[in-house]
Amino acid sequence: MRVLVAGGSGFIGSHLCDSLLADGHSVIVADNYITGRKRNLQHLADHPHLTIIEHDITNPLHVEVDWIFHLASPASPVGYMRHPIETHVTNAVGTHQLLQLAQRLGARFLFTSTSEAYGNPLEHPQSETYFGNVNPVGPRSCYDESKRYAESLTMEYVRQFNLDARIVRIFNTYGPRNDPNDGRVIPNFITAAKSGQPLVVFGDGSQTRSLCYVSDLVRGLRVVMQEPELAGEVFNLGNPDERTILELATIIIEQCGSRSQIQFEPARQDDPERRCPNISKVRSMLGWEPTVSLEDGLQATIEYFSAYETLPV
Ligand code: UDP
Repeated sequence: MRVLVAGGSGFIGSHLCDSLLADGHSVIVADNYITGRKRNLQHLADHPHLTIIEHDITNPLHVEVDWIFHLASPASPVGYMRHPIETHVTNAVGTHQLLQLAQRLGARFLFTSTSEAYGNPLEHPQSETYFGNVNPVGPRSCYDESKRYAESLTMEYVRQFNLDARIVRIFNTYGPRNDPNDGRVIPNFITAAKSGQPLVVFGDGSQTRSLCYVSDLVRGLRVVMQEPELAGEVFNLGNPDERTILELATIIIEQCGSRSQIQFEPARQDDPERRCPNISKVRSMLGWEPTVSLEDGLQATIEYFSAYETLPV
């Protein structure tokens, strides 16, 4: 297949490119590097089936493809709060551009939404039928609400134009190529633990997250795109292995063999208290479930961070 990966230079996008190219697909990456990084695709620079275009998806893109994966958006809280307007516009105007492209080409479309669409959830674990509990004017709303808007727009293209579009809600994902500066919990904790600095826990650390290793997540994206007859379907992708942030800090200190302490700081505004995907739908319809344990995934991520300074920029 000819595949467009919008946001292909990002953390998850770059792993998706690896996976698609390994299976013989031709890949075009469009990325404006607002949070994506050139180093993530450096190892594929000479690949004959990869084309990288520096492009902002809020502008029209002229390519011929069969599949469009839309992963283009800042996605970490620090990343989207640093670029709130760009996050809004990318998910609104950028998604519209890509939907128009898909419609014109008759291409299959996969929109990557987020567990943030559920906000600070009142239903636990979160299933796809839950409407969410989102603060529409809070500091996270540039991401939550623009992703919700983009989901809605995608569904209109399914209803109005029979576009073959699917939506995936990605829960917290980690692994090699996590940006050490994007403020996410795992890169922050590993960087601190390795340098003997305190691990900063926001709030009392009782808030939970369910962490999915990137190879599992990419396999899920591939399955949702590949399967026929899924137009208009929404799937959670994530690992239901729920942990508190305090537990995560303790595990990372131990796995890094670190003497770092844990330091508590005030909670972030609107920080979701609990987050855990219900993955029964994707498991029963598509047979997908994560296979990499938190401990194994963290080990591989810690190794990546250990080699980070020596990797090509
Ligand atoms: N967190 C933390 N210390 C950090 C970074 C994050 O305690 O250095 C907490 C954060 O408050 C949240 C959780 O870890 O409860 C996950 O945060 P992250 O930024 O990775 O993503 P989120 O799931 O909030 O989108």
